[in-house]
Amino acid sequence: MTRDEIRQWLKTADEARLEELWLRADEVRRRNVGDEVHLRGLMEISNFCVRSCRYCGLRVENTGVVRYRMAEEEIMDCARQAVAFGYGTVVLQAGEDYGIERDWMAELIRRIKGETPLAVTLSLGERSEDEFAAWREAGADRYLLRFETSNRALYDAIHPPLAGRRSDRFALFHTLKELGYEIGSGIMIGIPGQTYDDLAWDIEIFQILDLDMIGVGPFIPHPATPLGRMRGTHAPPAGEQVPNSEAMTYRVMALARLVSPRANIPATSALATLNLAQGRELGLMRGGNVVMPNLTPQEYRAMYEIYPAKACIDETADQCRGCMTGRIRSIGRAVGSGRGDSPNRSRAVQSE
Ligand code: SF4
Repeated sequence: MTRDEIRQWLKTADEARLEELWLRADEVRRRNVGDEVHLRGLMEISNFCVRSCRYCGLRVENTGVVRYRMAEEEIMDCARQAVAFGYGTVVLQAGEDYGIERDWMAELIRRIKGETPLAVTLSLGERSEDEFAAWREAGADRYLLRFETSNRALYDAIHPPLAGRRSDRFALFHTLKELGYEIGSGIMIGIPGQTYDDLAWDIEIFQILDLDMIGVGPFIPHPATPLGRMRGTHAPPAGEQVPNSEAMTYRVMALARLVSPRANIPATSALATLNLAQGRELGLMRGGNVVMPNLTPQEYRAMYEIYPAKACIDETADQCRGCMTGRIRSIGRAVGSGRGDSPNRSRAVQSE
């Protein structure tokens, strides 16, 4: 698909054409990754962060956040719960927290891999090659790191770098790939200043990077952040600002499925935040094949507030599982079994 075609899909207001897009994405999803929806148990293991991303409620300047870091045994309890629930993967997510030390993390990964059959996905920010290598050596299978936007000027405007370090996530993908990780990335939709051209290029990049996982979600303003207060942003030309809407998120998910037929694509909790009743189901019907039920102990959930009014912070892990499996079955899909590894590198292409 050319960038111009992607742009047209992003901008069309023709409902009949959009119906065609949903059907095409659903068909390509079915032919390439099947009807199973994989459940990844999400653990938000620390909300400490040294970074200052201008949209994120966990940014270091936000002194209103009560910070926590889960203990090893708490994480192991969650991992055992994941096994009991039949999940094939746990996702260990945190801010960029250097209190999560290389060797402590490696030992934790070794324990999870030694004591359970789970695949381990990490989402711990921009860490060093040495740390990535140690964690891979310990058994980590996948790494998630969103590039958020391919517009370098916009990226720099919302991601102040750490002193003396340039943030280059594309270089990190290269390192992670060399180390043998499955790689997941994605973007934020509707960042103030993001144009349709930017977004079309982001979607082309999904294809170029040959991603195993693609996670996309709308920009949801957080009142305790500079972007939430809309400071320091510039307006693109009239009609070119991408909306941070639920509808635009479905378009990007569907187009991601068309350009990367075999990628694992989650229907995210950000979608559920915009539409609690149906966001996840519609995401799954428009290209998605993964959901991420939350395993984080309830006492911590409300403290992991990247954006406000996040869906599902009051449910127990058991309630999350019941809710997710019910939603999957309600749209005639099957709950996935096994690890749900990326079929990206091992299957023949069966796209259109
Ligand atoms: S987006 Fe990630 S790295 Fe940036 S401030 Fe939030 S938690 Fe930290």
